[in-house]
Amino acid sequence: MTHLIFIGAPGSGKGTQAARLVAEKGLKHISTGDLLRSEIAKGSELGKEVKAVMDSGALVSDNLVIRLLQANIDLQKSQYIFDGYPRNIAQAETLDKEVLKGSPSTAVFFDIDMERLVARLTNRRTCKDCGAIYNLISKTPKITGVCDKCGSTNLVQRADDKEDVIKNRLQVFQDAITPVLKYYQDLGRLMRVDAEKTEDEIFNQIASKI
Ligand code: AMP
Repeated sequence: MTHLIFIGAPGSGKGTQAARLVAEKGLKHISTGDLLRSEIAKGSELGKEVKAVMDSGALVSDNLVIRLLQANIDLQKSQYIFDGYPRNIAQAETLDKEVLKGSPSTAVFFDIDMERLVARLTNRRTCKDCGAIYNLISKTPKITGVCDKCGSTNLVQRADDKEDVIKNRLQVFQDAITPVLKYYQDLGRLMRVDAEKTEDEIFNQIASKI
């Protein structure tokens, strides 16, 4: 049983694949972005602390994110998809030393052209009630404005999916991720997927490894 570590720029399709792996293969999805957004939604002290940083597209402190991650996982019980963590080399090392501690894991890199991502992300809509992800161009809900999964009409654009913030988030991602990819490559734990392929092709490629 190998845990999966999803690495990909915002909008590269990690969330969509994670949802399928949860539904069809029983994996658990843990997204540090979702955990942080839920703290903001709850209005917790931690949420108040991170809101401004997240709205700007910058990264929240490593220490805070690892504490939140540790508090929300149980490696003995479940096979996880880590999504949005690690974002830098220090986080990759922390994940191995303090979380996985030798449990097998494969890093899955969603490789995609950065220019295309801006278009994907500005058209992304998320269901505020169940988290389902849509795209106004490539993956529209069956009924306009209504979530296929839960029927909610709360399909919203994330605050950090606005164009100027997106550009910053992509830059932040690119600057930090190269050493992370090298880290997993050197350890022989990196799987590269072409994120421009169809949802099914990508799913089958990842599913063949678990
Ligand atoms: P995401 O949903 O993964 O795109 O994350 C949204 C935002 O949450 C990022 O722009 C960061 O501000 C913050 N965030 C999520 N994961 C991390 C992480 N591993 N380290 C630091 N900040 C993070």
